[in-house]
Amino acid sequence: MPRAIDGMKECIRCHEIKPVSEFGRNSQAYDGYRGDCRECVNHRRTVRRKQKQELERKRETRRMRKERKARKELEATRRKSAAQKAEYHRRNKPSINARHRANYLSRNNPGTYIITNTITDTVYVGQSVQPESRWRQHRRALRKFNHYNTLFQKAWNQYGESAFIFEVVERLPLQVSKDVLKIAERELLHKLIREGKKVYNK
Ligand SMILES: [Zn+2]
Repeated sequence: MPRAIDGMKECIRCHEIKPVSEFGRNSQAYDGYRGDCRECVNHRRTVRRKQKQELERKRETRRMRKERKARKELEATRRKSAAQKAEYHRRNKPSINARHRANYLSRNNPGTYIITNTITDTVYVGQSVQPESRWRQHRRALRKFNHYNTLFQKAWNQYGESAFIFEVVERLPLQVSKDVLKIAERELLHKLIREGKKVYNK
């Protein structure tokens, strides 16, 4: 190890001979100075810092690459499951359609109906492919005071909901046409009028 001579010392790294003021202190060293000069110490610190930064950058790149890959995988998985769903529907189209049709038909039970004001014995005559849900529609409109039949609405306001009863008069086949339903309704209306029944229908 080169020692300080006449205030000068050789650096163990760059091997330049520099004044001892260019060296850091080290109480453990035999001459009280570090073996490497300040410049070399600083240079090594800079190099280490850059190496650390480089390592950090590489780690970040790896992390981002991994994330991108995972995101692509997720998208592919979603595409695949959407395709499987479409394929399932394509393959099972007849049975799915049959199920939908069965549902549709089970909800439908066409027929004519009357809504009777039990106090005045006045009736509203109607027809529908779904008389029960039609009754719900009537009630919804009446409760909001916007039923298109003003006579019926007036009576509803006057006597209250509890005065009215709903009943299906005649059930017709599932596949019955709208025209046939309308004829059945008109026949029922005229029959009731002939019998002297008061009606809300105009
Ligand atoms: Zn040096």
